[in-house]
Amino acid sequence: MSIHHKEHRNKPEYHTPIYEMALAQFEQAADRLDLDPNLRKRFIAPKRAIMVNIPIRMDDSSVEVFHGYRVHHDTTLGPSKGGIRFHPDVTLGEVSALAMWMTWKCALMGLPFGGAKGGVRCDPHALTRNELQRLTRRYTAEIVQFIGPEMDVPAPDIGTNEQIMAWMMDTYSQLKGYSIPGIVTGKPINIGGSLGRTEATGRGVVYCILEAIQHLKMQVEGCKIVIQGFGNVGYHTARILYEKGCCVLAVSDIKSGLYNANGLNIPMLKQYIEKHTHMKGFPEGDEISNADLLELSCDVLVPAALSEQITCENAERISCKILAEAANGPTTLEADKILQDKGLFLIPDVLANAGGVTVSYFEWVQGLQNFFWKEVEINERLHDIVTLAFQNVLRLALSEKVDMRLAALMLSVRKITEAKLARGLFP
Ligand code: NAD
Repeated sequence: MSIHHKEHRNKPEYHTPIYEMALAQFEQAADRLDLDPNLRKRFIAPKRAIMVNIPIRMDDSSVEVFHGYRVHHDTTLGPSKGGIRFHPDVTLGEVSALAMWMTWKCALMGLPFGGAKGGVRCDPHALTRNELQRLTRRYTAEIVQFIGPEMDVPAPDIGTNEQIMAWMMDTYSQLKGYSIPGIVTGKPINIGGSLGRTEATGRGVVYCILEAIQHLKMQVEGCKIVIQGFGNVGYHTARILYEKGCCVLAVSDIKSGLYNANGLNIPMLKQYIEKHTHMKGFPEGDEISNADLLELSCDVLVPAALSEQITCENAERISCKILAEAANGPTTLEADKILQDKGLFLIPDVLANAGGVTVSYFEWVQGLQNFFWKEVEINERLHDIVTLAFQNVLRLALSEKVDMRLAALMLSVRKITEAKLARGLFP
C-alpha cells in the first residue's frame, strides 16, 4: 500500500486542510487551558455527520444528483445551530470546520446552542428558481431526521437566503403535517422571521469594530475601511459604517472590485448593483482586483467573502490596523502568526460575525413564545451581547497576553468543558 493510501486511511474523511486549520486553532486553546485529554478527544471530531445525495429533475427533464451535508459538531449547551451553504466548493471537511466554529461562537455569545453547519455542492447562480426550489426541498427531506427546533436549527449562509429558508420551513412543515416556523432562522418576516435578522451579522461586525476603535483610541469619523465581499454581510457592514461617517475606500464581489481614495458612496453603489446586478462599471470608482484590495493601506480591513483569503502569500503585505473577520476562517494559521508579529489588532470570526447567530437566537425564542419584539429592542439586545463578548475576550487577551482569537477560543472551550463535566458522560 502506498504511503499516500496509508495516510489517507488513518485520517477521517473530514480531515481536509480547512478542518485541520480549525482543529489547530482549538488545540492552541486546549494547550493553553491545559485541557484534560479525555475532554480534548470529545471536541476534535464532529458529534455526527450526514452525507446525502440529492437527485433533482432539471428544467430540461434530465436528472442531476448533488452532494449535500449536515454536520453537528457539539450539542452540550443545547440544540445545534448553523447555516446552510450552497457553493461549488462545499466539502465534508469545510462543513465540519464551519460546524466547529459555530460551537465556539454560540458558547462565546452565551447562547444555549451547540454548533452545526450544512451545505450542498452546487452553483446556485447556475440553477433556475424552480431547480433551486426542488434542490432545497429534496435536501431538506433527506436531512429531515437530523433537524428540528429542539434538535438542530439551520439558517442562511453563502448562496442561501430567506427564500431558501422559507422553502426549508415549508418542506419540513409539510412532512410533519403542521406549520413549524422554529425549524429555521433567517426566514421572511411574514412567516415568523425576526426584525433585524438580515442585517444582524453586519451590525455585529460594526459593533466589534467600534469597540476596537475605542480601545485603540482611533476616530470613527473618516476611519478608512476596506471590505472584500458585498453580499449580505459585506453590504450591511459597509452601509452602517458609511452612515457612521467612515470612509469606505474599497469593496468587491466575486467578479470585480472598486476603489475610490475619497470613499465610495455606498447607497449609490447599492442602487447601481440593483440595476446592473454587479458593481463592475460603477462610474465613481476605479476597478481593483480582489488580491490588490486586500493589500490596500487602511484602518480596518473586513474580509466578508470566503475562507483562506489571507495566507502566508499575502499576509506580509496586509496593511491595516484592525482586521475584522466577517467571513468564517478568512485567515490561515501561518498568516495569523505573521499578522500577530506585525502587531495588528484581530477581531476573530467567532466574535466578529456572531451577530447573525445572536439574532437567529432571538428569532428562535420569539418563535417558541409566539411573541415578537420591536426592532429597537432587538438591536439593543444585540449590542449588549456583542459588546459584552468583545470586552470579555479583550480582558482575557490582555491578562493572558494572547491574541484575540486564542482568548475567544479559550473562553468558549472553558465554558463547554464546564458544561460537559456537569453533565457527565453517558452511559
Ligand atoms: P453572500 O452569498 O450574501 O455574499 C458573499 C459575497 O462574497 C458576494 O458579494 C460574492 O460576490 C463575494 N464573493 C464570492 N466569492 C468571492 C471571491 N472569490 N472573491 C471575492 N468575493 C467573493 O454571503 P454572506 O452571507 O454575506 O456571507 C459572507 C461570509 O460571512 C461567509 O464567510 C459566511 O460564512 C459569513 N457569515 C455569514 C453570516 C450571515 O448571517 N449571512 C453569518 C456569519 C458569517
